[in-house]
Amino acid sequence: QAKSGGGGNYAFYSPDMEKRTSARLEMRNLLRHAIERDELVLHYQPKVSIETGKIIGAEALLRWNSQERGAVPPAQFIPLAEESGLIVPIGEWVLRNACEQAAKWQELGFPLVIAVNLSPRQFRQADLLERITSILEETGLPPESLELEVTESAIMDNAASAIRLLTSIHDMGVHLSIDDFGTGYSSLAYLKQLPVSKLKIDQSFVKGLTIEADDAAIVTAVIAMAKSLHLGVTAEGVETAEQLDALVKLGCDNYQGFWFSRPIPADAFVDLLGTAH
Ligand code: C2E
Ligand code: MG
Ligand code: MG
Ligand code: MG
Repeated sequence: QAKSGGGGNYAFYSPDMEKRTSARLEMRNLLRHAIERDELVLHYQPKVSIETGKIIGAEALLRWNSQERGAVPPAQFIPLAEESGLIVPIGEWVLRNACEQAAKWQELGFPLVIAVNLSPRQFRQADLLERITSILEETGLPPESLELEVTESAIMDNAASAIRLLTSIHDMGVHLSIDDFGTGYSSLAYLKQLPVSKLKIDQSFVKGLTIEADDAAIVTAVIAMAKSLHLGVTAEGVETAEQLDALVKLGCDNYQGFWFSRPIPADAFVDLLGTAH
């Protein structure tokens, strides 16, 4: 900020950082009202069984269509929601809507498992367990039809309490999976104590699977380890037939990716179920 000439006339020379900070504040304020303004919507990406080629579930992925900003990518607004604590009401909205949707699909005769992402902040919420229980009751979705995706860092932030919480969630019958596996600092010693049923191999490794020896080695090792620990394994971000081919050969259980379908709105998902289930 510098004085330019006289007469109380100021020009602002904001450094980049300051600009970024105020842009974030503005966006945070917009996000604060996103639920009541009906700007949030869930898209669904199929999870596909490699053995049968059928859709076995869906991952709910949040979309924000801001009146002021248009479509804001999750990579931008999820971190903001996380920092500001807005992820707690937003996450609850996501869970309720995803469970409602899955209950509707079950009524239509599609017994899918719906996967919902849980952020580190939600994971530290004292009443998370009660929230999940009451949403399942309200929506009538069986716990076995819900899967929660947590990242290694959310767990490792406080491993002892995370293991207790995950155990209670698991005891309800809800499935747990580790998202973006391989990108965090998960300790393999903890892995065997965690009541998770599935690992999701991060898409960065899948991307290099058919072109980089290192990525191929990592994917191979993760699948082998998952199998010996009796965990299911899902590959994220499958974009090509070659990648899928490689995953079939490695014995991967399930996959998600643009190769089969991008995340799509609920009505488009139902159409897809009708043709591909
Ligand atoms: P994630 O949970 O790992 O979700 C997978 C991301 O990969 C999604 O991005 C999805 O659209 C994208 N993806 C799927 N298949 C492909 C593919 O073949 N190629 C490529 N390049 N990308 C693919 P999206 O929807 O932008 O979400 C990004 C991240 O934002 C998610 O990563 C998750 O961490 C977070 N997120 C999204 N929705 C929610 C939510 O409701 N709650 C929380 N806490 N986090 C969410
Ligand atoms: Mg996920
Ligand atoms: Mg992921
Ligand atoms: Mg991710």
